[in-house]
Amino acid sequence: MNIHEYQAKALLRDYGAPVSDGRAVLRAEEAKTAAGALDGPVWVVKAQIHAGGRGKGTFKEADAGEKGGVRLTRSATEAAEEARKMLGRTLVTKQTGPAGKQVGRIYIEDGSGIETEMYLALLVDRVTSRISFVASTEGGMDIEEVAETTPEKILSFSVDPAIGYQPYHGRRIAFGLGLTGPQVKQCVKLMGTLYKLFVDKDMEMLEINPLIVTDKGDLKCLDAKMGFDGNALYRHPDIMELRDETEEDSKELQASKYDLNYIALDGEIGCMVNGAGLAMATMDIIKLYGSEPANFLDVGGGATKEKVTEAFKIITSDPQVKGILVNIFGGIMRCDVIAEGVVAAVREVGLEVPLVVRLEGTNVEKGKEIINTSGLNVIAADDLKDGAEKIVKAVKG
Ligand code: GDP
Ligand code: MN
Repeated sequence: MNIHEYQAKALLRDYGAPVSDGRAVLRAEEAKTAAGALDGPVWVVKAQIHAGGRGKGTFKEADAGEKGGVRLTRSATEAAEEARKMLGRTLVTKQTGPAGKQVGRIYIEDGSGIETEMYLALLVDRVTSRISFVASTEGGMDIEEVAETTPEKILSFSVDPAIGYQPYHGRRIAFGLGLTGPQVKQCVKLMGTLYKLFVDKDMEMLEINPLIVTDKGDLKCLDAKMGFDGNALYRHPDIMELRDETEEDSKELQASKYDLNYIALDGEIGCMVNGAGLAMATMDIIKLYGSEPANFLDVGGGATKEKVTEAFKIITSDPQVKGILVNIFGGIMRCDVIAEGVVAAVREVGLEVPLVVRLEGTNVEKGKEIINTSGLNVIAADDLKDGAEKIVKAVKG
């Protein structure tokens, strides 16, 4: 789960990390008071969406103004005016995709004088199963691009969990970033704070881009992005409260309520599969036959008819779906439960696209009989290859 920049900065502030003073605004009427509570002389007005690249982003609506999603203003009045222009408008950045994201919240912050912009991140390195620091002098930029064109400018190392964060880790980053004098001490302290926050809250990712040296020579977190491990959220009710459902894919949100492992994708073939491995293989083979999956979906082992029905409804509610492939290899999952769920869902919401069903394993005969006597217009498939071939053919014509 991700949170907004202003929420991430509140957490940083709580832990004693240096951030500017700021106020979040949900409605245009609040903007003037919020901006007036800050000192200036520069007010930074920042669109809050769960995507980066806002500064260089553009708005879809003309009345949002020419500038991007991060605006420097010279008075509280001007700040409130820019906030009003951005609220409710759609911001398109490199990370949002062409559809963009609607801005529902604005953060107004005291402006900082910037000496240098640097990059800093903590993340879980799945290769070493450790938390890694990533730092670079190339801040405020697209870090993927830096990694590709000038990988030597990225410093990265992981922390042994048996030892935990040590001052030498912080010094290594400080020297890598070319910091000197009191900044080194600040860096050692800040990295320790970030590491503690990361571990305390079960984060997956914490990115400060840019981390800056201010014109007064101090370190400050100018932007903040945080992602949390969804499986650990149950022990962080304070973090769970920060969830902004409007930022999430509505289909994924619905799926999470039914405890389904569902991820929305850009393709045209909706997939209902049991088991993550088989789901991955199904997506691969759809691509092999020349199409693209519209989703990843693992209905799991102990799914009920209700869960399967809900999963099928989520797939059919996606307007991008031009065909559906049900691919079940029933081990713990029973084929008849899947068949009942599919039939129930179609009775409820109808079926306007071709449906290919491949069933194999436990109770397969019962499952096939349920499908065959349902009156549904189903294309039967024998195996994974056959199923993929048939659904792609049905969709592509
Ligand atoms: P992002 O574009 O979504 O990553 O948003 P950021 O918060 O990183 O802001 C983008 C850029 O705006 C930064 O890299 C800075 O160059 C600039 N910026 C943000 N806040 C300030 C500020 O307080 N003062 C100044 N001078 N520039 C800022
Ligand atoms: Mn940024």
